[in-house]
Amino acid sequence: MEITTMAQATQLHAQFLKYPQTDPQNLSKIFNFTALSPSGNLTYARHILNSLQTPTNSYFHNTMIRAYSDSPDPIQSISLFLTLHNCEDPLSPTPDSFTYPFVLKACSKLKQKRFGQQLHGLIYKSGFALDLYIQNALIHFYSGCDETGLAWKVFDKMHERDVVSWTSIINGFVDNKRTVEGLELFEKMVMEGFEPNDVTVISVLRACADTGALSVGIKLNEYVNGKGTGLKKNVVTALIDMYSKCGCIDSAMRIFNEAVNKDVYVWTAMIAGLASHGLCREAIALFDRMEIVDLKPDEKTMTAVLSACRNMGWVDKGLTYFKNIKKVYNVRPTVQHYGCIVDLLARAGRLEDAQEFIKSMPIEPDAVLWRSLIWACKVHGDTQRVEHLIKHVEGSKMDSTDDCGTYVLLGNVYASKGKWKNKAKVRRLMNQKGLVKPSGHSRIEIDGVIYEFMAGSTCHFEAESIYKKLDEIEEELRGNGYYPKLSEVLLEIDDEEKASQLLHHSEKLAVSFGLIKAKPGTIIRIVKNLRSCEDCHSFMKYISSVYQREILIRDRIRFHHFRNGECSCGDYW
Ligand code: ZN
Ligand code: ZN
Repeated sequence: MEITTMAQATQLHAQFLKYPQTDPQNLSKIFNFTALSPSGNLTYARHILNSLQTPTNSYFHNTMIRAYSDSPDPIQSISLFLTLHNCEDPLSPTPDSFTYPFVLKACSKLKQKRFGQQLHGLIYKSGFALDLYIQNALIHFYSGCDETGLAWKVFDKMHERDVVSWTSIINGFVDNKRTVEGLELFEKMVMEGFEPNDVTVISVLRACADTGALSVGIKLNEYVNGKGTGLKKNVVTALIDMYSKCGCIDSAMRIFNEAVNKDVYVWTAMIAGLASHGLCREAIALFDRMEIVDLKPDEKTMTAVLSACRNMGWVDKGLTYFKNIKKVYNVRPTVQHYGCIVDLLARAGRLEDAQEFIKSMPIEPDAVLWRSLIWACKVHGDTQRVEHLIKHVEGSKMDSTDDCGTYVLLGNVYASKGKWKNKAKVRRLMNQKGLVKPSGHSRIEIDGVIYEFMAGSTCHFEAESIYKKLDEIEEELRGNGYYPKLSEVLLEIDDEEKASQLLHHSEKLAVSFGLIKAKPGTIIRIVKNLRSCEDCHSFMKYISSVYQREILIRDRIRFHHFRNGECSCGDYW
């Protein structure tokens, strides 16, 4: 008996109620379908569960808890668990090793850290602490609650691990932005003889994309190709994203063209990749093609399209896409979409329009949006407007990391105008809110190893030769017309100190290391966590012509491809 529709399920259930002596397996099948099938019905499943007479098998409760944990309403999973746990009827089932993984899943979805931790205590007391599935679920739960340390504690203590345990811990590190550690764990996993599954591959590709670990990404691509089973769409999406974020847009395009089945995520990854590389005409052309094959864009597709317009400064085009977003594309505008338009207007120097646009927004502006406006005010030298904006920034709700970047920028605007008093005020505000300035770092991969550089840091084992090389480079560049842009240094120090501080920005350390270590003629690829300053940007342009070397830098916003003294962004970023 195979059930495929709800109508069939209710009919069979009615029959079962009429002739209860029939095979009890039938009821399990009906219940299973209503609870777990995408065409099932949770309310109906609950109705079956409630009508069962004790003693019941824990299978029904566990299936229901599992179904709720996958549903849009996972709190039901916790509440059913509590009913089960608190039930005093001796004939009622008690939670077992199949119950906990799904309640933990619900806790993770709801970020119910406290409750999950209580569950952990209960699991320990009930003697399930060494159960592999429960341990895997605990890793997943702690990672989902941003508690990578606690997830690691569970993982570290496991006597036996499977590919799911490894994948969960790697995923946890990657999700919590500890991508370098995620990559190290992956290496360990492979060394211990575990074969990655699709979920592992996707997680690790995300780590590669974030850190710029191209060689690991290429190996994973070869690995999935070698399996010969064809690539799933989500793996294709992850590969496109990895290649474009590692600077290999041609490889991303190859994967895209070779993929047989493409869904909206695959297309969106490609459009976003092209846009971030400044290949905005190509991005828009692809978007047009997507319409021809009759695929509906989603929120992320529209963000990619609008950022293509933003990167090129196409104000009218961007505004038209935005106007049509709901009407034509049936996508509800998000704060990212509004952010692109504010950025687009502001960078084009239409600061007043940008500000008016913010006023007209039906949703609360976020930190990124304020920051792009303040950044543009800085570029266009409109300090007065910044003074006005600070009130909004102070009053708006922002998450702490974004928050910090906005204040730092605000402080920088004041400092660039020599308004040290105001800068001090911003600093005080930051202190009051307990915000710490994020430090700039750049990463470069040489022969499969990722090297990380912090601005001004000397703790690298080859620091001496890196700094020596940097001095040489600077001298050579100065001979070719480069002069440090001292106005980028926002401290009250003399010019010589300013020049030295500029020279030690993290991407310059990385490029110096790259020139020493990377094979001659290869592209130097750097990933930076913040936006590049104007001085570093001009420095890289000079290197690309004086040393005849291509440099590719990914900053927070987009790619800069330096070739023969020019950058792909056309100095518009
Ligand atoms: Zn810099
Ligand atoms: Zn550039």
